[in-house]
Amino acid sequence: MNPNAGMGGHIARRRFGQNFLVSPGIIDRIIAAIQPCQGDNMVEIGPGLGALTQPLAERLNHLHVVEIDRDLIARLRQRYDANKLTIFEVDALKFDFGALCGAGAPLRVVGNLPYNISTPLLFHLADFISCLRDLHFMLQKEVVMRMVAMPGTADYGRLSVMLQARFHVERLFDVPSGAFRPAPKVTSSIVRMAPLPAGASGVGNEKLFARIVAAAFSQRRKILRNTLKDFLGESGFTALGIDPGIRAEQLSVADFAAITHYCDEHFRPA
Ligand code: SAM
Repeated sequence: MNPNAGMGGHIARRRFGQNFLVSPGIIDRIIAAIQPCQGDNMVEIGPGLGALTQPLAERLNHLHVVEIDRDLIARLRQRYDANKLTIFEVDALKFDFGALCGAGAPLRVVGNLPYNISTPLLFHLADFISCLRDLHFMLQKEVVMRMVAMPGTADYGRLSVMLQARFHVERLFDVPSGAFRPAPKVTSSIVRMAPLPAGASGVGNEKLFARIVAAAFSQRRKILRNTLKDFLGESGFTALGIDPGIRAEQLSVADFAAITHYCDEHFRPA
């Protein structure tokens, strides 16, 4: 079957991670999960050929979209009135999501995300957490499993800790590859993220927290005594009640927060 059939002449661009949703049943489920309400302040990343844009625009007074592909932008401009749809022709990784908040309602972010930029995009969005109400994304199932993973599991890593420290992260349902055109090689999942109340994570010094988490997971098979040697000595491990002989995957988000507080109080690592 022609992988680009039914796409109105558009040829899917692999470099932009273009796998377009074509299953009405799945689109309905995603919209039901998002529960858009008329006055919501919402932005869709990567509207593409409009599979989600159309049902969202029908339910909202107004929708923002961020799209990188000029051909798709031209189609969106033809199809939607500027009062209904504001189109930002820009790379979502560089987009200032804070600019959409201003004094207005907190921002809802949705998207069937291009898989090649999904992890950096999640980190980029986390920078705007104070402006966000919630996020609903389609991502590779493998990435979503890492986002929701619990300590002690193979999927648990830097992504799990960095996101769970700031968001409640929930895997909603899986989407088979047949729901897209062209079909990707992998299964996808829908994930919902909602910012934790300010201060709930207890992370404290966020830059230091990020450095400690990155160092701890830099070599998964090494024990903390080695990976965290620039941050904690034996006395630090003892004071915190953490065994220096375990690996990063055995530490909870709260453990990483406690290490961060300890380091922040006792010395400022270079
Ligand atoms: N939302 C549509 C759907 O569900 O059928 C398209 C989803 S497709 C997986 C990803 C979309 O993101 C494409 O429209 C692609 O052009 C766009 N895109 C890719 N990289 C982007 C980037 N860096 N910034 C903004 N949009 C991007």
